[in-house]
Amino acid sequence: MVSYVFPPPPVAALPIKGSDALFPVRRIFCVGRNYAEHAIEMGSDPTREPPFYFTKPADSVVINGAVTPYPSVTKSLHHEMELVVAIGRGGRNISVADALSHVWGYCAGLDMTRRDIQNEAKKTGRPWDMGKGFDKSAPMGLLVPAAGIDPSKGKIELKVNGKVTQTSDLAKLIWSVPEVIANLSELVELAPGDLIMTGTPEGVAAVVRGDVLEGFVEGVGDIRTKII
Ligand code: MN
Repeated sequence: MVSYVFPPPPVAALPIKGSDALFPVRRIFCVGRNYAEHAIEMGSDPTREPPFYFTKPADSVVINGAVTPYPSVTKSLHHEMELVVAIGRGGRNISVADALSHVWGYCAGLDMTRRDIQNEAKKTGRPWDMGKGFDKSAPMGLLVPAAGIDPSKGKIELKVNGKVTQTSDLAKLIWSVPEVIANLSELVELAPGDLIMTGTPEGVAAVVRGDVLEGFVEGVGDIRTKII
């Protein structure tokens, strides 16, 4: 029997649409620059460079509909509306053809970003962690089981205070969901509970306290949070 010097932290988990069970979150991987128009607005070349990743802590999730506190040490908190893939079956060196069979479900999510800290990190060649992986940086909508969901197309949109700021289509992902799963599984062994944030389309912008963010991914679901 293992004993701990203090109680282990609670398991971060996502609520599931139509179920009382929770999806336990293991790790959160995020794909950088996966829509061409967003790569261009960030000053990057939108050609099909290999996908690259950063991470957020599992406990950075903000559960469906809960408020998101404005983080410390930033004057530029940006929204990034994304499709989130939830892995249900792990593996390494997963093939593109087999990739979707590893998906448990999907949800809509926000990759909240301290853009000023991220930009400074880019300039100085330092890690993005404090720009991306801060507390409460990953608001997520209800998780929906994968059956019947085709992640190769579907509108993705975000409104801030009722005004559309980001709108695109999953068909514009530079690296598709199966390709991302296959590529990432070469770098790490994926495990049940891993989430993959697949990248954001163009239209990212700063938010302030009081803003209400409402997004959806067609065929998947909604995300809503208020910045406080
Ligand atoms: Mn992102």
